[in-house]
Amino acid sequence: MQSPYMMYPARITARRVETEGIYTFTMQFVDPKIRRSYRFEAGQFNMIYVFGVGEVPISIVSDPTEPAALEHTIRIAGRVTGAMAGWKVGDVVGVRGPYGNGWPVVQARARDVVIITGGLGCAPVAGVINYIFRRRDDYGELHILHGVKTPKDLLYRERFDEWRRAPRTRVYLTSDQPDKSWHYRVGVVTQLFDELAVPSSAIVMMCGPEVMMRYAARALLDKGISDDSIYLSMERRMECAVGLCGHCQYREHFVCKDGPVFTYRTVRKLFRTPGI
Ligand SMILES: Cc1cc2nc3c(=O)[nH]c(=O)nc-3n(C[C@H](O)[C@H](O)[C@H](O)COP(=O)(O)OP(=O)(O)OC[C@H]3O[C@@H](n4cnc5c(N)ncnc54)[C@H](O)[C@@H]3O)c2cc1C
Repeated sequence: MQSPYMMYPARITARRVETEGIYTFTMQFVDPKIRRSYRFEAGQFNMIYVFGVGEVPISIVSDPTEPAALEHTIRIAGRVTGAMAGWKVGDVVGVRGPYGNGWPVVQARARDVVIITGGLGCAPVAGVINYIFRRRDDYGELHILHGVKTPKDLLYRERFDEWRRAPRTRVYLTSDQPDKSWHYRVGVVTQLFDELAVPSSAIVMMCGPEVMMRYAARALLDKGISDDSIYLSMERRMECAVGLCGHCQYREHFVCKDGPVFTYRTVRKLFRTPGI
């Protein structure tokens, strides 16, 4: 039986600086057999290994229909991600995965889709947005709401511009600490909800700081959207990624194997503050 910890070498083929301290790396498995057989779903993550330092879970942001070139957007947070900042094109790193479940792309078919993100939260949903655009006729209106602290925290600027120009798509951006360069809304992401007109049959996919997701989920319930149509991608520290070590245990759930995507119906019972 193959070890669940089996990791494969992958070569960095592109490196892009998104904003200060945030990089997007494109990588390809060195072994052509692995490159051909590797598949993932939008919303899943890989464990990315820096040789001699350690490994961390990172969402896959590229399109699942092109699994040979994997993209990961990484924010420098500490020891392991700090070492990733030094990666150059041509470097070889370790990748194991994919892990976790994906976004509910099947349940979302023929429905209006609302994507809500805060800060780096937009990384895990970039893959599902690309997925929907590739199958645009299968989905209803697409609403993308994104909040950042300051304008320099806005990742994927050119992608937001591209998404805004697409038919049946609305993009709403807000910053709670704007400067003179900011031409969009001011405030936190939930303040955008006054502009959001969607039927109660809409499906919501959310990623970002947990407090933002809690308040957003509550406001969505007020709009008549049911708690099993609101999906959240949760983050917990994890080690094994296969439900063995217990680091990411969330009451009876493991974020690594039962998530990271959960319905709000599931997670609202787990939140410590009742009602939020
Ligand atoms: C399913 C999943 C998907 C993720 N996707 C991405 C992604 O696409 N891009 C990305 O940049 N990061 C992502 N992360 C977060 C990333 O794994 C952590 O930032 C990373 O593990 C930090 O490791 P480090 O050794 O660099 O920092 P450390 O030295 O371990 O920690 C630095 C600081 O960050 C805090 N921290 C570390 N991990 C977490 C965490 N999971 N939750 C809250 N605080 C934490 C520590 O407490 C400490 O304060 C994801 C995490 C999960 C669970």
